[in-house]
Amino acid sequence: MEVILRNLTKRFPSRDRKKREDVIAVDDFNFQIPDGRLIGLLGPSGCGKSTTLNLISGLLKPTSGRIFFGEDDVTDLPPENRGIGLVFQNYALYPHLTVRQNILFPLQNLKGKDKLSKSEMLSKANEAAKLVQIDDLMDRKPAELSGGQQQRVAIARALVKMPRVLLLDEPLSNLDARLRLQTREEIRRIQRKTGITTIFVTHDQEEAMSISDMIVVMKDGVVQQIGKPQEVYDNPENMFVARFLGTPPINLFVGQVKDNQLYIGKDAVLRLKGIGNQEVLVGIRPEGFILQEDGPLCCTLSGVEVMGRDTSVVSQNEASLNQTIRAIVGTEHLVMETKVRFALKPHKVFLFNRETEKRID
Ligand code: ADP
Repeated sequence: MEVILRNLTKRFPSRDRKKREDVIAVDDFNFQIPDGRLIGLLGPSGCGKSTTLNLISGLLKPTSGRIFFGEDDVTDLPPENRGIGLVFQNYALYPHLTVRQNILFPLQNLKGKDKLSKSEMLSKANEAAKLVQIDDLMDRKPAELSGGQQQRVAIARALVKMPRVLLLDEPLSNLDARLRLQTREEIRRIQRKTGITTIFVTHDQEEAMSISDMIVVMKDGVVQQIGKPQEVYDNPENMFVARFLGTPPINLFVGQVKDNQLYIGKDAVLRLKGIGNQEVLVGIRPEGFILQEDGPLCCTLSGVEVMGRDTSVVSQNEASLNQTIRAIVGTEHLVMETKVRFALKPHKVFLFNRETEKRID
């Protein structure tokens, strides 16, 4: 099911009584989500992710704009008539019911022509439980399950009616690191298998990058960039997006463009084409540095960490006021406190306007 957001806007009255201005939690969001994809809604806390999800689910009404599921304008429909499945961070299972009863719950409220017989309901609940691989836990109560298992029950419950759209709000946040990884792979597998259009809210860029077909990066209610994870990583449109994606994070410098050369401090580090002389912000991905004897960036190594395939290097760049550089280089034998020189991979270097912070290269 395609989900279309058209000029979607949500304002809340300010909680601070002295401030008259509304909070614009979602500001003119436009996006045509293709059928059958997993979309990661990504951004720091307070950027409007949950509000967007709640608008799509119908738990909130937009101030303006429309929402379509395919041809169907659902903007004025209550949540129960939209055909959505919802999964929250805190699982929201009924503690007094068994796993089976929890999964059956959404089917028991169906009315009229949608009403199912007892055996149909049980068969659907079994199917959903199989899909998330908890069919051997059907008689347990939520308290007798691990966090990961509880979240699988919540997912089974959201899927039991075969929703048109599956909405997940930080579904992995309450799980420990190992379970988080496992459950996120599980969500990806289930999504592929069912082909249900899924929107996944998270503040964790690695999580979003790893499972999404496309990511939407938001800041202060405003969509910053939409694209495939790798495309957004390789081609951030502004400094916020460049900084938000990637571990270790991007390295930032103030630089100068002068006569088709990029300078960091007094070092000319890269040849450029077609960019006028100006002061710029320079972002360099950690994997954008190459150890090279005659490289233009001179640094002193202050930290070396061998990480199997790669080596993480922390160094001080002498030309730019001893600024720290975090680089990822291939396995190299490197000695602390020695001097090294780096060259740069041009496609890992981004230039931003100093005022607008938009890309200029
Ligand atoms: P996120 O999910 O990205 O953390 P939210 O969508 O929860 O962000 O919130 C976006 C903005 O809207 C925040 O500034 C938040 O304080 C505000 N907000 C959210 N819900 C309400 C509400 N019910 N009343 C007033 N302000 C709200």
